[in-house]
Amino acid sequence: AAKNEGKGHYRFFDQFLSGQAERCAFLKGQLARAIEADQFLLHYQPRVDTVSGALLSMEALLRWQHPEFGMVPPGEFIPLAESSGLILQIGALVIDKACAQLAAWGAAGMQPVPVSINVSPKQFGRGVVACQFEAALRRHALPAVLVEVEITESAMMGEHAVVLAELAGLHKLGIKLHLDDFGTGYSSLSQLRTLKMDVLKVDRAFTNELEQGEGRVFFEAIVSMAHALRMTVVAEGVETAAQLRILQEIGCDEVQGFHISRPLAAQDIEACFLGAHRVACA
Ligand code: C2E
Ligand code: MG
Ligand code: MG
Ligand code: MG
Repeated sequence: AAKNEGKGHYRFFDQFLSGQAERCAFLKGQLARAIEADQFLLHYQPRVDTVSGALLSMEALLRWQHPEFGMVPPGEFIPLAESSGLILQIGALVIDKACAQLAAWGAAGMQPVPVSINVSPKQFGRGVVACQFEAALRRHALPAVLVEVEITESAMMGEHAVVLAELAGLHKLGIKLHLDDFGTGYSSLSQLRTLKMDVLKVDRAFTNELEQGEGRVFFEAIVSMAHALRMTVVAEGVETAAQLRILQEIGCDEVQGFHISRPLAAQDIEACFLGAHRVACA
């Protein structure tokens, strides 16, 4: 019986894999058309002060509104865009959409809150990222303080000199740099010093372990190291009140996560966080 189960399991696994592979190939083939058909949109997730709860920024998170599959998450299509090269076009449209939204909120008289934009490692290394941001800021008449850039640790590998030049270019514009998913990549302490990032976003894997003694000590060590390097620390993936309380105790500056708010569509962000009809949202 065990043998049969084993076989059944393998057959199921094969089907699952080929199903996934087929879906991936299918989605990948539709990416270019999806760009033309304007099927991408941004959701926004608030980032708040750990102690006061004040809204500090919102992270722009990309979604693909697919006509048949519904909302496709970025974890599924960003890797496809990266391997097909379309990430350059998608990256450019993300910058433009985020800036257009900021300008629209400004025009509607809402309080200005910065938007944090994820930039793929694959967008770096061509020397165009800082220019794209500069052009988008000018096009939408926005000050650079309203835009922040998030880069994962893996972006720091590879073409080091070019990446450093692009980061310096963004800094020169007045854009703050966030090191995303910290702790999951390979950045060394010396890299942290040379990269001159402004903000350290600690991966949610570490937030998850806060309630275990060792997890808390580990997070505390990250906070003091970041502060020694004059970086602001953000905890990602805060899901419980207990995690939030520990983060307050250990002096983590800022928090983001489902406990504060899930990523929301622009109109929900307006209603819940930007002053319009504030009371309607709990
Ligand atoms: P990220 O930049 O680390 O974004 C945080 C991810 O964690 C988001 O997933 C968010 O919905 C999720 N998250 C936030 N709070 C919680 C929580 O409390 N619990 C849990 N379990 N998850 C939480 P999402 O939106 O699916 O995005 C996944 C990743 O896709 C992002 O990770 C980012 O690396 C990438 N991504 C998203 N938008 C873009 C984009 O415009 N460009 C690029 N290059 N990458 C993007
Ligand atoms: Mg991010
Ligand atoms: Mg992250
Ligand atoms: Mg991530």
